[in-house]
Amino acid sequence: MQKLIAGNWKMNYGGADAVPLATALKSKIVDPKCGVCVCPPFTAIAAVARVLLGTGIAVGGQNVAWEDKGAFTGEISAPMLHEWGATYAIVGHSERRTYFCEDAVTTGKRALNALKHGIMPILCVGETLEERRAGAIENALKAQLEGAFAHIDAGGEQSLVVAYEPIWAIGTGVPATVENALSAVGFIRAWLISKYGVAPKVLYGGSMTALNAHEFLSKGIDGGLIGGASLKPEEFADIVRIAEKIMRNA
Ligand code: PEP
Repeated sequence: MQKLIAGNWKMNYGGADAVPLATALKSKIVDPKCGVCVCPPFTAIAAVARVLLGTGIAVGGQNVAWEDKGAFTGEISAPMLHEWGATYAIVGHSERRTYFCEDAVTTGKRALNALKHGIMPILCVGETLEERRAGAIENALKAQLEGAFAHIDAGGEQSLVVAYEPIWAIGTGVPATVENALSAVGFIRAWLISKYGVAPKVLYGGSMTALNAHEFLSKGIDGGLIGGASLKPEEFADIVRIAEKIMRNA
């Protein structure tokens, strides 16, 4: 399966400074042999997509509405993302769940509407530190998967991407161990296979860097959702090169 390296810029580089970052990525990631995608703030998507057009680096939103238009103040719809040149959308990121009260059901609705418009959702799931300490990782993942996938009727590689992101590893500099990540990713794959007969790409996210990417990507994880390190073009390009090399040697 082709690996995917996706960058989540979060609420950074939303204005004029997004273009130099995209330009730096364009010069460092040439004709990528794995999937590459960057998700800038909404206000920068169109400009970044213009810079990256034809480079093989896709652009995504950090969220997407579950309706196409209407009275949904503050939301951006899939047709709007599409018009800007985005082809991916992160849904259910833990920062959306934690700070903006999003849940499994709205995450599923967002993913479904993205799919309807040809936008590839990157659907995030992951446990809190309390759930991990209580030995409740699989229950937490199962609840998030059941809620999100209740109305999604396809689970194959072409349909969407799932990102396993243990919440305690995001932005902390403390990644999961590869064994922990593999165990959770294995659970997610098995759950998806039992529902759809096939599993899509499952990424790992949570303090992935150029130093630890090889460990995760060489052990069967399908890619990375990368926050902090995606803002450093050299390091993000290094992670892409690591993924490409693993694919070449597979
Ligand atoms: C993320 O934002 O999804 C993420 C994984 O961030 P970081 O790589 O900074 O932990």
